[in-house]
Amino acid sequence: MRRSYPLFCLSLLLPAVTWPATAASRSEWKAGVATVDITPAKPIWMAGFAARKKPSEGVARRLYAKALALEDRRGQRVVIVTSDLLGFPRAVAEPIAERIGRQYRLRRDAILFSSSHTHSGPVVRESLTSMYALDGQQAAAVLEYTAALQDKVVEVAGAALKDLAPATLSLGFGEAPFAVNRRTKKETGYVISPNPAGPVDRRVDVLKVEGAGGRLRAVLFNYACHNTTLGGDNYQIHSDYAGVAQETLETAHPGVTALFMLGCGGDANPDPRGTMALVDTHGASLAAAVDKVLAGGMRSLSGPLRPVFDRVNLPFAPAPPREEWQARLKSKDVYQQRHARDMLAILDRDGRLPSSYPYPIQVVRFGKDLTMVALAGEVVVDYDLRLKKELGAERLWVSGYCNDVFAYIASKRVVQEGGYEAATSMIYYGQPGPWAPEVEEVLIGKVHQLVRKLK
Ligand SMILES: [Zn+2]
Repeated sequence: MRRSYPLFCLSLLLPAVTWPATAASRSEWKAGVATVDITPAKPIWMAGFAARKKPSEGVARRLYAKALALEDRRGQRVVIVTSDLLGFPRAVAEPIAERIGRQYRLRRDAILFSSSHTHSGPVVRESLTSMYALDGQQAAAVLEYTAALQDKVVEVAGAALKDLAPATLSLGFGEAPFAVNRRTKKETGYVISPNPAGPVDRRVDVLKVEGAGGRLRAVLFNYACHNTTLGGDNYQIHSDYAGVAQETLETAHPGVTALFMLGCGGDANPDPRGTMALVDTHGASLAAAVDKVLAGGMRSLSGPLRPVFDRVNLPFAPAPPREEWQARLKSKDVYQQRHARDMLAILDRDGRLPSSYPYPIQVVRFGKDLTMVALAGEVVVDYDLRLKKELGAERLWVSGYCNDVFAYIASKRVVQEGGYEAATSMIYYGQPGPWAPEVEEVLIGKVHQLVRKLK
């Protein structure tokens, strides 16, 4: 739902009146940051790996949600929320957006939710429903955690808005070496295994926020690699390489808030992976890449800030008939069984399965110098590489895992190749089937439409 507020409109119409003639009037931007601890207080089921058999056992590294609030000289605001979570599903994100919208007079297009996709964080409500077998106590712990998380994210967004102060923004790019394509072709089909010859994007996008006197206040960075150095055998809460990178930067630059966004890393894993030592290695390597960009020549960004948020219906391939789901109830695979049970329940309730998913896309333009495209779901790298080719890599930032993490977003190529990202993962996510091959054109077409709207 969209709202317009008299104050908001006034600031758009009368920029000269609403902007005071002080030192701030020379500043193109205001920025504010805030951080809140979202570490689970009690043992909780951990998100991302189906093989786990018990709740978390202790905390190896604390989890945070952070907010970066930006305001241009017309008073247009955007709040970017980042988090050490597997992802915000729609059912968790939208009530938060409603509350932030009401309390701070922000439209939906001015609120962006992003997650690091750590697989060593808590399960949140209504995500990957076929993956976990939660008992009553664990399900209650997840509900309790999710409610507290929603309160904390509303608070952190508000705290960042209260922190708004004159700032300058600049953009630069670096590179980190550890993302490797993880789809390998075997005789039986595509499996998850490092594929150094496969497509990957190792670029690190860096947005620098400086306050009065050029003091570094915040750094927002984006990298396209699954945040899964640690595997399903880890039972300690941990923010993985993205958390280590943020903490390393915050330690090296006291007083600075470092915020991580995940790019289109749906089909990339850190390589090598599997140990706590490797988490630290990859985190340090990403932090070093960011530091190198901060120390080099960065391009200064000017306004105006222009956000847009819309949904497009991504098409599923035709779903199997009821008899097929009934047959799958007898599958030896427990996940197939649960999925079939859930699909039959939808068929009983609605008479049919959904033929598409209302997929959110958010685009934020920073003047002529940067277009930030925030895609939902676990987006494979083909989307990122194609958008950079079609829209110009030097002015484009593409993130995945934003606003609604509800499925992998395979490209036409990946849909046709099959494998985990294309097919098997849809079972865990409780979706009615793989995407239709047209998914790529529909998604890319909508991004172009939104980008044109902001020209
Ligand atoms: Zn994933």
